[in-house]
Amino acid sequence: MRLYYRYDNVVREVLALNELLGTYHGVVIPATIAIYYKNSVSSFLENYRNPYFIDPLTYFINQPAKNICNRQNNARRSYKMLIQDYLNFDVEEIDDIHLEEDSIWDFSDDNIEFFCQNVIDFQMECFKDPEMMDFLNEYLEEEEQQENLPELLMTPYVLIENDETYEFNRRLAETSFEIYEGEIPLFACITISKEYLGRNPNLEHRIIDNFNFTNNFIIWESDFNAIYESVTNLLRFKNIVRILSQEGENTVINLYGDYFSLLLSKLGLNGFCSGLRGGTKKRARLSRGGGGGGATNVYVPQIRRFLLEDDFRAEIQRDERLICNCRKCDEINDGLIIDDPIYPEPYANDLMDEKRYLEHFLLCRQEENINIEEMELEDLLNDLREKTETYAISAYINHMTRWANDL
Ligand SMILES: [Zn+2]
Repeated sequence: MRLYYRYDNVVREVLALNELLGTYHGVVIPATIAIYYKNSVSSFLENYRNPYFIDPLTYFINQPAKNICNRQNNARRSYKMLIQDYLNFDVEEIDDIHLEEDSIWDFSDDNIEFFCQNVIDFQMECFKDPEMMDFLNEYLEEEEQQENLPELLMTPYVLIENDETYEFNRRLAETSFEIYEGEIPLFACITISKEYLGRNPNLEHRIIDNFNFTNNFIIWESDFNAIYESVTNLLRFKNIVRILSQEGENTVINLYGDYFSLLLSKLGLNGFCSGLRGGTKKRARLSRGGGGGGATNVYVPQIRRFLLEDDFRAEIQRDERLICNCRKCDEINDGLIIDDPIYPEPYANDLMDEKRYLEHFLLCRQEENINIEEMELEDLLNDLREKTETYAISAYINHMTRWANDL
């Protein structure tokens, strides 16, 4: 299973640590960060050896203009820069965008192609330094040239919430495949609302028919959170993965996922993305002043989920067996007196200090990924059932029962 992590300015140092590059496959760089922090992302990529790709985040384009604003009601700079790149608007025009309008841009037949081309070019060229490229092309043999290109490209996409947006998204994907001639694999991106999925029981089959120009899919079910989802919704998501993968013929990557996605590798999922501090789900709709760093989450491998820092502290006080023994945590524990009755507290303090919790997560997830590859689905589900019994006093285990019963 390919593990991808979302790049941001907090986690970049940890992602770049040499000894941790082997714990995951690659990074996803959100287009807003790629464009706004171009220099620092470029310098990260110069020394970084794992693959990367850019999420073009185009779903904002047909949403209300006020959604790209900050709390002071000004359009956020990073989005303005993207609008300029994707739509060739000049800056003055962007400043004049009427914030009360329903949509940032109206699409018509003749400009879809131009939009798709721009979005693909952006992903290809964002981190190319033109002067450096000329220099390299002139002095280096072809095989020595390092272009730092993305591993894959995404078609522009919008949130599918009705038949109209479904067709529009399909056309964006189809047009992109028609105009693209490069060698880097292009992935059709399908972002769906739960409501639309609920109303269209055969949607996954329709997608297979309507997207027959590709074998590569990136999927995102808006707001899907496997920890809290009902049995029906989990089953539905599983079926999307199963049908889109066509018995492994197609490549399917989930844009936001957690341990549940890891289990779905047994049903055809090839990879998934998440944050290093949670970030396992997202709603495909911006809101004014949205974003925000948010609380710190700690991964608890015994119960296969993230907890908020305070909940994590309370849980390990209640049940010391929830203290992790990954390489990082062992290192922390070595310096502590484990017989001490207040031992969970200094452990938590040390883990939360200096981004150790990020390394801890990378190591835990790597181990889970290895286990998944070695074990059969049935054994993995039994393992979940055992865990719900072992940690029965925890209030945070219900998802494991649902997962075990659904798959
Ligand atoms: Zn650990």
